Amino acid sequence: MSGWRLARIAGADIIVRPSLVLIGIVLVIVFAPQFESLGAGPNPYFTSVVFVLALFLSVFLHELAHLAAARWFGMTVPSVELHLLGGETRIEGDSRDAWQELVTSIVGPLCSLVLGLAALWGTRATDGATHSVLWSLGFINVLIAIFNMLPGLPLDGGRVLRAIVWAVTGSEAKGVRIAGWIGRLAALGLAALAVSMLFDEDRFALGRALLVLAVAFFLWQGASYALRHGVAIARIGALEARQLMQHESPPPESVPISVNLTGRALLVAMAENPANSYALVDDDGRVVGTLFAATVDRAYREAG
Ligand SMILES: [Zn+2]
Repeated sequence: MSGWRLARIAGADIIVRPSLVLIGIVLVIVFAPQFESLGAGPNPYFTSVVFVLALFLSVFLHELAHLAAARWFGMTVPSVELHLLGGETRIEGDSRDAWQELVTSIVGPLCSLVLGLAALWGTRATDGATHSVLWSLGFINVLIAIFNMLPGLPLDGGRVLRAIVWAVTGSEAKGVRIAGWIGRLAALGLAALAVSMLFDEDRFALGRALLVLAVAFFLWQGASYALRHGVAIARIGALEARQLMQHESPPPESVPISVNLTGRALLVAMAENPANSYALVDDDGRVVGTLFAATVDRAYREAG
């Protein structure tokens, strides 16, 4: 997928997908007649453009909240993408646990909720076009907060559910499967909603239905991606050299690696030094036990 790199914040590339421009144009066209009917300003299209830009800014702030929380926990965030559904903050890191996952996921919708309520509060002191834009912004941000808290991947609520299942069962992969399938169900529900909207008796019915259908399609793709890749990533993330260690002295041909290696870093270290067994050494260089490649292989296949 192509995209434009806008900036780099806290080590993360801020990327805009072409689909964001497309959805921006659609939103301007859909909202302009509604602003016109509210009698907002001399040019409803200008009002609509201001509204859509402010909406994108609030989506960006939502993503920045994810970025800030992830960086707070010391996670690596390679990129923040703004696209059709709003945005997506890609997070990498071996130090993740269920609690960090929960906090990092929930701050986004909380940010949208606060922005939405602030905009609605702002409507009390304004009138005309400003009032209409603030009211729409407030309404949509509250809607974004609620929609994103649906408990299906790739939505934030899906990540919260994944974290809760992870904390309760100890298996991140199980969390991915449950939240991924709920994400697919939510996508089917939205598609059904889109079809029912076609029967609305006004001239914007088709536009609104197509918009909801596009979101449903995007949600299905995201949930399917999470199911395909999330389980494998979760299984890799669950690997810990110390936990898989055997308390016996390593065979003579063992390759020394750190006992503190976990997740992807452990697999990388093993791939760089292929061997049947590894001598696990602590920070002082002392050998503390043995890690057999076969044990890691079995742990990966049995995880989740
Ligand atoms: Zn989010």
